[in-house]
Amino acid sequence: MTFVIDPPTQASVAVTGTSARFPARRVYCVGRNYAAHAREMGHDPDREDPFFFQKPADALAASGQTLAYPPATNDLHHEIELVVALKEGGTNISEGDARQMIYGYAVGLDMTRRDLQGEAKKKGRPWDTGKGFDNAAPIAPITPFEETGYLDHGRIWLRVNGDMRQEGDMNQMIWKVDETIAYLSRLFTMMPGDLIFTGTPEGVAAVGAGDRLEGGVDGLTGISIKYK
Ligand code: MN
Repeated sequence: MTFVIDPPTQASVAVTGTSARFPARRVYCVGRNYAAHAREMGHDPDREDPFFFQKPADALAASGQTLAYPPATNDLHHEIELVVALKEGGTNISEGDARQMIYGYAVGLDMTRRDLQGEAKKKGRPWDTGKGFDNAAPIAPITPFEETGYLDHGRIWLRVNGDMRQEGDMNQMIWKVDETIAYLSRLFTMMPGDLIFTGTPEGVAAVGAGDRLEGGVDGLTGISIKYK
């Protein structure tokens, strides 16, 4: 195939233990997905349906970098999240089949221009400027599923300049990973290469120029980002 201009670079994410990379297709994000308090396991009839937004795949930024503080904001927020990488796709996937579609997991940051998102919420406008800007999705290398198994619990945390800012457990997720994949697959055709940011525990706050962000999820390679 020939193109009239040079084609854009395929967005991709590093994988632990190999130089081969995971090719990124879509980046789905789950809205508020952690209860502020521990919930019992099992079905919660009172929970609201999950909601989703997307970031462009080229907003993914490798861990270990110093990033420019993004333009047009005075309130850049961190959201530490478990990221799920899919190796298979489909529609109307059952929760039982969902975990076989997982290639692996990574630690990610759903960076948010909170002032722009707040303005959009107020005016009933889309969140793209708040959520989908350049480098809005820093991500650590993916750990393959074979090494982790299915993740439904384990600590998730974020430190800023060494101070603990966010700390939770993945068992606090309102919508579990398999439920989220099943739900998304009723709205979209899921495809290999899709990534899902699964929501953040409480403690989100602003970061500034010079700040160093270090986050982790039990069993996964940690993320480290600095803002200049
Ligand atoms: Mn988020």
